[in-house]
Amino acid sequence: MPRIDSKKIKKLFPIFSKKENKNLVYLDNAATTQRPKVVVDAIKDFYETYNSNIHRGIYDLSEKATKMYEDTRKHTAKFINAKLSEEIIFTKNTTESINLLAYTLSDNMLQKGDRIITTSLEHHANFVPWQTMAKKKGFILSIVPVTEDYSLDMEEFEKLIKEPNVKLVCISAMSNVTGTTPDLKKIIKRAHKVGALVLVDGAQSVAHEHIDVRKMDCDFFVFSSHKMFGPFGVGILYGKKQLLDKLPPFLYGGDMIKSVKETCTVFNDTPWKFEAGTPSIGDVVAFKKAMEFMEKLGIENIKNHETNLAKKTVEMLKKYKQVTIIKPKNLDKSGPVISFTIEEIHPHDIAEVFNKEGIAIRAGHHCNQPLMSRLGIPATARISFSIYNTEDDIKKVELALKKLFKIFAK
Ligand code: PMP
Repeated sequence: MPRIDSKKIKKLFPIFSKKENKNLVYLDNAATTQRPKVVVDAIKDFYETYNSNIHRGIYDLSEKATKMYEDTRKHTAKFINAKLSEEIIFTKNTTESINLLAYTLSDNMLQKGDRIITTSLEHHANFVPWQTMAKKKGFILSIVPVTEDYSLDMEEFEKLIKEPNVKLVCISAMSNVTGTTPDLKKIIKRAHKVGALVLVDGAQSVAHEHIDVRKMDCDFFVFSSHKMFGPFGVGILYGKKQLLDKLPPFLYGGDMIKSVKETCTVFNDTPWKFEAGTPSIGDVVAFKKAMEFMEKLGIENIKNHETNLAKKTVEMLKKYKQVTIIKPKNLDKSGPVISFTIEEIHPHDIAEVFNKEGIAIRAGHHCNQPLMSRLGIPATARISFSIYNTEDDIKKVELALKKLFKIFAK
């Protein structure tokens, strides 16, 4: 199997060759990845060569832009193995994709007293919309807790799924705090057995593992381009066609209609009925390059490289007794995200000392305050890997840790 040469790959990312970032060790990839030159160039190329609005121009330039936009839709369908390109809706991010579902499902497929199951591992993006809808519409929101090993408590899930009127399960494929990857196939099968739909938040998983929505058999799958080397401003919502057809539009206006009279409107077909107004066309077009970039490297190769880095980092952190690692023990079954805390040192202080050493990590609640409450901690420090990270980066992290201990020595 070809190995990832991360030093060579790093050269494909212009940000690392800027003099301002010469010593940058970027370890906040769960927040957003960096962009390779092919993606940056594609954005520039769109504005320089093809810039025009889509779907409505009866002239060559607009037809070319429309084709490029729709080609990305086709490529996205292939990338996650959706059956039809019509099952792909472009939004602005994962959060908007989930809100689209929260509003349209709540108004059309859910009733007062219905139960929605979510988990303690969810990002606020896959929690707050459901909590808000539950309050507004009288749904019951149940939360599957985590075990001591930061895995999903499947016994609790089994109890909850047996409750009456479970209509929807909202679950992330990979936690952005612990890297936990729940057994989605099992959960989806079980949910379908009781007639519930399943929404999978793939914002974290999509950059690290091959996604096959048909094999997974989820009903909805959402993710963001910016977490997988693509531009900001592009979110993706996959949904089974027969379900999307049943849902009404989320936003109303231009480009999502077939015809409008003073008294009524006929909406466009799926997926265009969900894409009101002018989308971020250049960014969608460049997103195709991000998917091609990943495919060229090989998603299995990416995964192996990052898992190896995560394992080495955990090994290194384990040498220091004052460090608590907040991550499942089985590193082959979790993503390359490593949260940790250090006795008597606040995560913000850890991040600040690391920053002085040129190391960018995240510290905070990572948009999952309910999990922090359950764990009884205010925050964690988080290292998250991507393909351009190297074993040298781990050595630099260890040096920064030693410096930190020195600064905070009593
Ligand atoms: N879900 C998960 C698991 C995430 O990690 C994030 C981003 N940190 C989101 C959802 C939200 O993504 P976005 O900000 O792109 O909407």
